[in-house]
Amino acid sequence: MPMATTKRDYYEILGLQRSASADEIKSAYRQQAKKYHPDRNPGDQEAERKFREAAEAYEVLSDAEKRRRYDRYGHAGLEGAGVHDFRSAEEVFSAFGEIFGGSGLFGDFFGARRRGPRAGADLLVRLEISLEEAARGATRTIELPRKEYCDTCDGTGAKPGTVATSCDYCGGRGQIVTARGFFQMAQTCPACGGEGVRVVDPCPSCRGSGRADKIATVQVRVPAGVDTGTILQLRNQGEPGDPGAPRGNLRVQVQVRPHAFFIRKGNDLVCQVPISFPQAALGAEIEVPTLDGPADLTIPRGTQSGDILKLRGRGMPDLSGNGRGDELVEVIIETPKRLSPRQEELLRELAELEHHDVSPRRKSFLEKLRDFFTEPEEGDAEPTR
Ligand SMILES: [Zn+2]
Ligand SMILES: [Zn+2]
Repeated sequence: MPMATTKRDYYEILGLQRSASADEIKSAYRQQAKKYHPDRNPGDQEAERKFREAAEAYEVLSDAEKRRRYDRYGHAGLEGAGVHDFRSAEEVFSAFGEIFGGSGLFGDFFGARRRGPRAGADLLVRLEISLEEAARGATRTIELPRKEYCDTCDGTGAKPGTVATSCDYCGGRGQIVTARGFFQMAQTCPACGGEGVRVVDPCPSCRGSGRADKIATVQVRVPAGVDTGTILQLRNQGEPGDPGAPRGNLRVQVQVRPHAFFIRKGNDLVCQVPISFPQAALGAEIEVPTLDGPADLTIPRGTQSGDILKLRGRGMPDLSGNGRGDELVEVIIETPKRLSPRQEELLRELAELEHHDVSPRRKSFLEKLRDFFTEPEEGDAEPTR
């Protein structure tokens, strides 16, 4: 039995009417591909999925025969029709990047991406920092496993004394161009893996790969205001590319450790501070923690548990430099668990007094409670025991 899959409608993916012309399809795809292009959405897997989805929709709708089958039978009509299952953005580039040459469908947008020697792969590492470091910014040195050019062969992959020869399968271009329908498909050369050269006598140290596993030391400047999930892009700190091509980028994903006092909400910091009932009732001056050290805070008379007092400009700095957030002090009124005889005496006296002189909030609560028990709820005819 065929697996049940939930595939979206190709017209819907590209935002098209079923009567769309070839030009409309092309321009709708171009828009989607630009919107979800990985260069614009680094590290965003949802965008990458949409990027691949749009490519698949375009592949079908731009091919008269596939489109006819799809219109008539839906997704089922395309089984065995040779529709790409794009598993990565790279596959989209190698399928569509050069279809119409560098100046056609995407112009420089795609065209420039797959010419000449290939750039190195991007690397992603996680960096854990404290909230204080996130607030002030920091410079951290990280070590990561990274491929480098092999020392023995200087990255050529050829045994010292021998040279790599131009690949005869692809003529040194690294790509094979084939016709599929009215498309010209450019695919990575299977003989040389896209390198354009073939090593006859491989280097013994790296077995011809030209790369060696090393541990790289990289300095990362963390700007003030970063948050968990922020990705810092370090250009040319990824893996080495083909000789003559740039290195990939290093992407550093920031993780901010939980703090003993502060919970971050956007650029604000929330801090819970316990105070006593007399402090809440009478008002007080207390000391609270801030990122800049202890600060004085006035507790106004009659503060309730859960009230939030704001310390303006004491939160996190904004990553784009737009000032600082606030610190929000949430006041928690603590009930004492142990009482001295004298404290107990005073509290009993207070309770006696309150029995005669009920506080306004408690009074309104008691009134609501009385209404709750006396007014029957509508539609609640069945008496419950
Ligand atoms: Zn080598
Ligand atoms: Zn080749």
